[in-house]
Amino acid sequence: MNRRNLLKSAASVFAGLVTKRELAAQPAIAKATRGLPSPKIKDIQVIATAPAGLRLVVVKIITDQDGLYGYGCATFTQRADLVVPAVEKYLKPFLLGKPTDRIDDTWQACYNSSYWRNGPVLNNAISGVDMALWDIKGRQANMPVYQLLGGKVREAADCYTHASGGEISQTLDSARAIIDRGFRYVRVQVATPGYEGYGAGRSGQATAKVAGLHSGAVFESTPYMRSALKLFEACRKSLPEDIELLHDVHERVHPIQAVRFAKDVEQFRLFFLEDALSPEDIDYFKMIRQQSATQIAMGELFNNPHEWVPLISQRLIDFIRIHPSMIGGLTPARKVSALAEAFNVRSAWHGPGDLSPIGAACNVTLDVTIPNFGVQEHSPFPPHVQEVFQGCPVVKDGYWHPNDAPGWGIEVNEQAAAKYPFGSNERDERKDLNGGWGEVRKRDGAIIKQ
Ligand SMILES: [Mg+2]
Repeated sequence: MNRRNLLKSAASVFAGLVTKRELAAQPAIAKATRGLPSPKIKDIQVIATAPAGLRLVVVKIITDQDGLYGYGCATFTQRADLVVPAVEKYLKPFLLGKPTDRIDDTWQACYNSSYWRNGPVLNNAISGVDMALWDIKGRQANMPVYQLLGGKVREAADCYTHASGGEISQTLDSARAIIDRGFRYVRVQVATPGYEGYGAGRSGQATAKVAGLHSGAVFESTPYMRSALKLFEACRKSLPEDIELLHDVHERVHPIQAVRFAKDVEQFRLFFLEDALSPEDIDYFKMIRQQSATQIAMGELFNNPHEWVPLISQRLIDFIRIHPSMIGGLTPARKVSALAEAFNVRSAWHGPGDLSPIGAACNVTLDVTIPNFGVQEHSPFPPHVQEVFQGCPVVKDGYWHPNDAPGWGIEVNEQAAAKYPFGSNERDERKDLNGGWGEVRKRDGAIIKQ
């Protein structure tokens, strides 16, 4: 403590503002709480790795202070190669030498510097920077990021994982195994006999494949909806009644079919029906709302505030399901949370396998710090992912716990990451398409949204 502050404190004692004991403790408190001087961005690197086949992109920001760095998730797995130059060729020269402690300011500067904005490639590049800056601030403060956001409002995040099968009996077995592990929320999907499906592969060998006017698999919305309704009926008959069921339509049906489907599933009391409509059809949510009380989740494909603001402010959805890196990281996701809280819309952040553990840590951090948390999607981290990302947040009895180490609490083993370049363990279409997805067609050959 300098002389001026000491005199000030002595005057405070005299004035009765602090006790002598509090005054005596000031040097120790100053030492314990003194932050490092503002670090500057010295280097930005991109770690591109595919330890479990899916392409993960992580941004590493290195500061001018020895040993102080941070990691952020920039994973857009279907176009992963494009995020790398967005960071290296544009954000890196823009940010070198800038302070690391002005996170929102940096976000606004990056966001506006491309003039045209809000695409998934650029948003993920900004997310990599944004989350890395939060990681650095946490490491500086020696606190997990959830502490920087005001601390926990709950102990851990209730989460759901995926039960699926080629037949209904297989999905039920899969759900029972998940429930036995302690989960209270289960997403259920089943294949449609003879057809292409989503989230459950193809049905058993006994079912003949429906032939279309093309060589690929066929998806048709009517048989899909029929199979899904049979699945929900079986789940409600066979699974414990207090288990919450979730289901993902993956925007594969026509809008008016989605309206009818939401009415048909109301009797099965889903915790939520996900992506019943595509982002292009969000005006139809008004019809779903008027005609059913099915709980609706939406948003994993959103990149732009024009997509989520009307759905939240008009109370047309129950769960906002954004993928934080797709909108630019933790900084904008916190703002979406606050907007949603004002309208009593809860969160269900997107948590697929094609998300790095840094992105998962960001999700769990939001989950435990926002009052309007709903549920968290959980995809397990395969062993090779845990080899690369050390300190992944842990699920216990269906609750996801944030890591208590500083920042995100995750260290990236960069030597291990280098063992799994893009293309490692990739199969089928994804291998041929550089990690991209292929196509889904109707019987007559028309492309559908997937
Ligand atoms: Mg989904």
